Amino acid sequence: MSDNPIVCEIDLAAPGKQTGYLRLPHSVHRSAYGYLPIPIACVANGAGPTVLLMSGNHGDEYEGQVILSTMIRELEPAEVSGRIIILPMANFPAAQAGMRTSPIDDGNLNRSFPGNPTGTPTQIIAHYIETVLLKEADFLFDLHSGGSSLLYAPTVLAPLFENDPDEALKREIVDGFGLPHGLWFERPESGGYSSAAAFRQSVCSITTELGGAGTVNRAYTQEAKAGLERALVRIGVLDIPLAPAGAAPRIFGKEDLIYAQETGLYEPLAEPGDTVEAGELAALIHYPETPGKEPGEVYFDNDGVVLCKRLPARVERGDCLFHLGCN
Ligand SMILES: [Zn+2]
Repeated sequence: MSDNPIVCEIDLAAPGKQTGYLRLPHSVHRSAYGYLPIPIACVANGAGPTVLLMSGNHGDEYEGQVILSTMIRELEPAEVSGRIIILPMANFPAAQAGMRTSPIDDGNLNRSFPGNPTGTPTQIIAHYIETVLLKEADFLFDLHSGGSSLLYAPTVLAPLFENDPDEALKREIVDGFGLPHGLWFERPESGGYSSAAAFRQSVCSITTELGGAGTVNRAYTQEAKAGLERALVRIGVLDIPLAPAGAAPRIFGKEDLIYAQETGLYEPLAEPGDTVEAGELAALIHYPETPGKEPGEVYFDNDGVVLCKRLPARVERGDCLFHLGCN
């Protein structure tokens, strides 16, 4: 019996397709005995792995929410062997507000694991996902994108942990996903990320970064949905006809983040997908408050491919401008 206050309306042990809500008790001025309705779906049929599909971990990342909303409608129990549990708006208050973090508690769900069953709504959601849903799962696909402040070239990412028993399978899933870029990154087991939560629960996890800019790019969502379906077929939970994958992804084993070191107006000189070299000028930081002052220069430190750039032009020291995939 879980000590988490969330009540699931649907029976996750039952076969067939069900949709409903996770009820997170939320007593506030306008609704004394209310709850936050976190959408959930489950498609189950016979024996096989349990897969958790998640989007809206960050509420302003819409591509995954579109993909999983579509899959909830399309998936048929007869195509499934095992169980697919879908949380399209994982941090529901954030997703409802179109914000990265929850407007209720400022919580960033993807920094909140393992959560706290007596904490804030974001902490309670994190605790439920880790100790109830991931506890029963074999695989997690957590679909992220650039959100409001970043724009990504479509990338599939696999976290690698020390002595990761799923490393070979993760490599196979990334190679076969069909997105143009793949990235490996090292994660500590103790982290607040969903991938760390998955590792603690012996769950093989894969994540994505798909576009962003606070919008939805149909080419990206279609490409990523096809990739997710390919992965689900590969792990044996789904049996549907597949379109052939495109070219093998360009895989990066290292990453590099480029930051603004001063406050000003940032002018990016590279775009997602561009190949760049160490020492190349990455951006100019302009100072319209100081007429006549020369712009500051930001350089790339490594050879690589630009996976993502920051969107808003106003920057402060500490804002990330670019995410590079490197080898
Ligand atoms: Zn995210």
